[in-house]
Amino acid sequence: MNTQAQKKQVLLNALYEPYKKCMACPLATLGRKNVVFGEGNPDAKLMFIGEGPGQEEDSQARPFVGRSGKLLTRILTMLGVERSQVFITNIVKCRPPQNRKPLPLESATCKNLLLFKQIQIIEPKVICTLGATALEALLEKEIKIGAMRGKETIFNNIVLIPTFHPAYILRNPNELEKITFDIQTAIKTSALV
Ligand code: URA
Repeated sequence: MNTQAQKKQVLLNALYEPYKKCMACPLATLGRKNVVFGEGNPDAKLMFIGEGPGQEEDSQARPFVGRSGKLLTRILTMLGVERSQVFITNIVKCRPPQNRKPLPLESATCKNLLLFKQIQIIEPKVICTLGATALEALLEKEIKIGAMRGKETIFNNIVLIPTFHPAYILRNPNELEKITFDIQTAIKTSALV
């Protein structure tokens, strides 16, 4: 790790520390085991943001390690990128019960306490949101993911390239090409490879 990355890792650790047992929103008392902060390169050019941890993520305290995560990892590998080169996290860091969508209060609380600060520290060139919920939570408006996917927009001066959620691709494998194309665009735009 270079000095810049080391400094950012220290900042990320310091950010996570007080929230390891976070009680700031209702998800704290709805059955979560772990606060899943996110992982990857602290100095990543490309950051992936999903919705929230599922069961596997909650038990391992790691983002995108269940079925959806395995698909995301497979797509990255296919495109010549390792998970350790990018940073992967979610809008909310605690598993919503029965994997329901995070409520507006939960998303807002978690974005302000953790996600926005993670983005500030990492300073990615490109953010790739996975699924409509993550995109809606960032842009704070309802969107149609089918119309927005793959289209570059700007969020807080950072290029934002939305795509489908990998869970949607597991249900609709015929859309694999589209998510792969969008992630490839995000990789190229971030000049990662
Ligand atoms: N789905 C998400 O949105 N995030 C994860 O970390 C896993 C599944």
